[in-house]
Parts: sequence; C-alpha cells; structure tokens
Amino acid sequence: LGERLQATMDRIKSKGKVSEADVKVMMREVRLALLEADVNFKVVKQFIGQVRERALGSDVMQSLTPGQQVIKIVKEELTELMGGENQKINLAQKPPTVIMMVGLQGAGKTTTAGKLALHLRKNHNKKPLLVAGDIYRPAAIDQLETVGKQIDIPVFNLGDQVKPQEIATKALEHAKEEHHDTVIIDTAGRLHIDEDLMNELKDIKEIASPDEIMLVVDSMTGQDAVNVAESFNNLLDITGVTLTKLDGDTRGGAALSIRSVTEKPIKFVGVSEKMDGLESFHPDRMAQRILGMGDMLSIIEKAQTNVDMDEQKKMEQKIKDQSFTLDDFLEQMDQVKTLGPLDELLKMMPGANKIKGLDKMQMSGKEIDHIQAIIRSMTMEERERPEKLNASRKKRIAKGSGRSLQEVNRLLKQFQDMKKMMKQMTSGKGKKKNPLGNM
Ligand code: GDP
Ligand code: MG
Repeated sequence: LGERLQATMDRIKSKGKVSEADVKVMMREVRLALLEADVNFKVVKQFIGQVRERALGSDVMQSLTPGQQVIKIVKEELTELMGGENQKINLAQKPPTVIMMVGLQGAGKTTTAGKLALHLRKNHNKKPLLVAGDIYRPAAIDQLETVGKQIDIPVFNLGDQVKPQEIATKALEHAKEEHHDTVIIDTAGRLHIDEDLMNELKDIKEIASPDEIMLVVDSMTGQDAVNVAESFNNLLDITGVTLTKLDGDTRGGAALSIRSVTEKPIKFVGVSEKMDGLESFHPDRMAQRILGMGDMLSIIEKAQTNVDMDEQKKMEQKIKDQSFTLDDFLEQMDQVKTLGPLDELLKMMPGANKIKGLDKMQMSGKEIDHIQAIIRSMTMEERERPEKLNASRKKRIAKGSGRSLQEVNRLLKQFQDMKKMMKQMTSGKGKKKNPLGNM
C-alpha cells in the first residue's frame, strides 16, 4: 500500500496542478495507509480532516508544486501529531531520579528497564539502581538479575516474599545509602489490566513519587496498544511511553494513536532484544515509517527543485527496476554537481547509514570530474555491463582517462555498492533492518 500511496503522490506531483478531486483521491490513499499501519480509526478521521483543510487552502492550490505541498502537509501534520520533537526522559532536579516502569506482561518492561539504565549511565553519566519489583511472574527477578549482570548495573532484590510497596520503600533508602542518583523500578504486568495490579502500581507511585512513569507498550499489538495506553494513563497519569519491538514487522501506527489518545510523549523506541537496542523517538522519522515512504521522498523533493522532472522520473524508474548503469551514473554526476554533495543525498536514503564505506564515498567536485573521465573512457557496452570488464580493458580505460588502475577499480566497486544499496532500498530490506534511518 505504501507503493500505491507513492504512485498516487507521484501522479499528482507530475501533474503540477491539483484539483479538489485530486486532494480527495490523495486523502483516501493516506487514510488507507494509516489504517493499514494500525492507526486508530478515530485518529485517522480527525487527521484526514485537518490535512484536507490545509491542502485545500489557496496557498497550496495555487502554488507551482501543489502535489509536493500536500505531501509536505501530510508529513508535517503526522510529525506534529506525534509531538513534533523528540522529548527527553525526565530527570530530577534533586537526585535521585525515580523511574517507574509500567505496562502489560510481555511488553518489554524488564528489558527496557535495563536499556534505560545503560542509556542513563552512558549518555547522562548516571549511576542507576535497578529494582526488582515484579514478585509474581516466575523468574522475573532472575531475569532482572541477568539483565543487571549483563550491563554491570546493581539490582536491588528482596526476593518474592516481600510486597512490592515495601520493596520500593527499601530500595529508595538503599539508593540513598549507596549514592545512586537514579532508581529504576521494574514492576509486574498482567495479561490484562486488572484492579489489583493498578492498586499496587498506584501505591508504588505514592511511595516513590517517580519523576518518570514510563509506560512500555508492545508496538506489535496494534490497536490494542491504544486501549492499554489509555487505561494506564487514566489510572496512573503516565509521563512517557516507550514503544518496543519496532524491529518487527509493524509499521508503527500505534505511535500515532497512543500519542493522540493520551497526549503523552513517546520518548523511546525499542529496536532489538539487546541492551543497546533503545533509541530516542523522533516523530518525523516515525511519520515517514508510517507512510511507508522512506526518506526517498525527501531525496526526490530535493532533486526536483534542481533537476528536470522527466529526467528524474526516468532515473527513479531505473533505480526501481535496477537497470541503472554507469552511463546513468555519469549523467547523475552532472546533476549531483548542481544538487550538492552526493554523500548527503545518499545519507537520506533508508538504510544507507548501514552501508560500509559510505563515508568514503564523499566526493569533491574534482573527484566527480575524475569519475566522469573514467566512465567516458568506456564504451557504451562497458557502461552497461561493467562486470564484464577484464584486466586489459580496465588498463585501457585507465590509460584513456588518465587515471590510475586503482581508481578505475575503486569506481567499479563503488558502483557495485551503490547498486546493492538501490536493490536493498527497492526491496525494502534495508528499511527493515534500520527502520528509522540514522538515529
Ligand atoms: P515484561 O514482561 O514487560 O517485563 O517484558 P520483558 O522485558 O520480559 O520482554 C518480553 C520479551 O520481549 C522478551 O523476550 C524481550 O527480549 C522482548 N523484547 C523486549 N523489547 C524488545 C524490543 O524492542 N525488540 C525485540 N525484538 N524484543 C524485545
Ligand atoms: Mg518483566
């Protein structure tokens, strides 16, 4: 569906002018994309209304690039809906900072408690204490102990015979004695929200007066995540959300719904089971992910301001069906000269930051000239099938272009890498491995 949305956008974009009917078609596609990404239907309805109003505004309809304007509005509004900017974790003015993890069973509380401890030590120079407050789930305490050992952070553990309320009290005393400036309390979850659990959590909140009540939500649960978030927020007045398991197949629509239903910021996302798999939440990147467009769109946008539209269309198609040749590369270089640094453009592509040696692909104007010289010394056939180049042909090309054999080889290698990257991009593989771009 992401593709369909893209196709509609492309069609409208290329038209240059939009009518009210076009906006309607576009809004239908956006609506479908959002529903597909598991965004709550009420949220979708409200969102679409807002975008439509802005899209039909005269400044958009009369602009030279209305299609692009509408896309921009969609992205802007999505980003805004998710809080606009990244929000940091609450830290106490006067230590200790107390963080209370809450959420359903299996959401990722214990894992995220460890990840947060590591994050706070690494990036905020804190000395955290983890508190084993889940006395119900078998092996929950052992699990936290294991997490603590893994990242070398102490765990406060009174076993499973002491009530969680008392554990919280004692943990805070212990933190004071041992000069821990951060206390992260892991709590029990249930399969569903029930009153016993909520009362226990309310008690702990009362006792520990946390600076951050971090709701942990499994992004894979889709629509359910919204109800869970709403209930927890109503009962505990949460202060932040961590959305876990974004490394899975989910498009992340839950992020949008949770934010608009609770009005509480999503602060982090979990992107792996490992302790370093925690990233700051960036609304703009999530907007891209939800729409399934990748950063490709910004590249196209950037390109369109400088490059002839038809040319760009042809290139996009070539990237899509992977028939991009060295000759196209040669042509692109001319455009790159007017666009700005190639590595900047490449960095915007989804998954590009995972590609080794990208930093080495930075090119100055002079290097571009050299590369163009090399490609110009190839026959058309060679430009189309560089894999067929043997040693003697490479030597001839080097001589013809006045560059070294090494440079010829380097170019061929870079081109190969680039093609690989394009393949990843179009197959969506790169996207999955690195769903949110370079965070
Ligand atoms: P809790 O019941 O809320 O404490 O949840 P756990 O921390 O025990 O996590 C439940 C399962 O989800 C464990 O197998 C974790 O390894 C896994 N998990 C947690 N966060 C993530 C994440 O961001 N990505 C992935 N892939 N797995 C996660
Ligand atoms: Mg747990």
